[in-house]
Amino acid sequence: MSNRRDFIKKAALGAAAVSSVGFSGFAKEKEEEGTLEFPSKKVKKPIVISTWNHGLPANKETWKELKAGKSALDAIEAGMKIPEADPNVRSVGYGGYPDREGKVTLDACIMDHNSNCGSVCFLQGIMHPISVAKRVLQNTPHVMLAGQGALQFALSEGFKEENLLTPESEKDWKKWLEDSKYKPVINIENHDTISMLMLDQDGNLSGGCTTSGAAWKMHGRVGDSPIIGAGLFLDNEVGAAAATGLGEAVIRTAGSAMVVELMRQGKSPFDACKEITERIYNKHKNHKDMEYLQVGFIALNKNGEHAGYSLRSGFNYAVSDDEKGHRMEDAKFKMSWDK
Ligand code: ASP
Repeated sequence: MSNRRDFIKKAALGAAAVSSVGFSGFAKEKEEEGTLEFPSKKVKKPIVISTWNHGLPANKETWKELKAGKSALDAIEAGMKIPEADPNVRSVGYGGYPDREGKVTLDACIMDHNSNCGSVCFLQGIMHPISVAKRVLQNTPHVMLAGQGALQFALSEGFKEENLLTPESEKDWKKWLEDSKYKPVINIENHDTISMLMLDQDGNLSGGCTTSGAAWKMHGRVGDSPIIGAGLFLDNEVGAAAATGLGEAVIRTAGSAMVVELMRQGKSPFDACKEITERIYNKHKNHKDMEYLQVGFIALNKNGEHAGYSLRSGFNYAVSDDEKGHRMEDAKFKMSWDK
């Protein structure tokens, strides 16, 4: 009968076998089986994809910077600063909808091909959380800084504190206070994080996310977007994925990490996004959040193949490459809003 000691011994032998092969050995084996082909001979690069309509101007800026020779992270930062500074984008940065106390609180993260990550959450008063996240990656021994500590760090790095609540957002918040119902209408008034994924000229993956989170959330609420593995994840051997939609549902299922893991097992970006969206649906179909649940994923693999998929209709994402320039693509979805 196998006892715990045997089990540990076998597990250790298994681990030794795996580590002596290493991931590339694993990848090669899978490639021989025809289930994984990274990178294929026809890698499409560079390519940048990002969520929602405001992904398009962001992509254009990122593309410009990338072509001018900027690093992947600098190019991602430059692109994401566009919606962050745009008061008409009501789900990101300046002009984003506040929480129920009228405070605009921001979440952002960034990740490079070496799995270096930087993240900030519950940050207030700083126009460009993506830039602070990049500084966390570059200038601290940590991955994530929150709230007051994140603000203190931003100020020490020379960022300026400013009021991010525009008169328009303040008006909408006061109107919301009249009934104070928390029922996010995603795609319409609420969730529209920008998440961006890139495969650069060198064939390396990177990505970022920035958001003001769910409108009218509780003060202190943090969504999936700054959480590596939930709102964003990448493995430079395999692919990258990012999420938008109800952050609580994405955190509950480690959404983006799971999409990447399915791509490692040989799934296409489309199949991986679809499977995790369906998993989220199955886990939530009897949940109180189901009524307003929307989640969407984008994914990009090492070959430059990409996809988007959402639970409900209305999700789209921007794509930029040399072949077709900049355009929007509608994501396929499981069901429409009236179901
Ligand atoms: N996922 C974000 C959050 O829950 C919102 C969004 O995608 O717009 O904070």
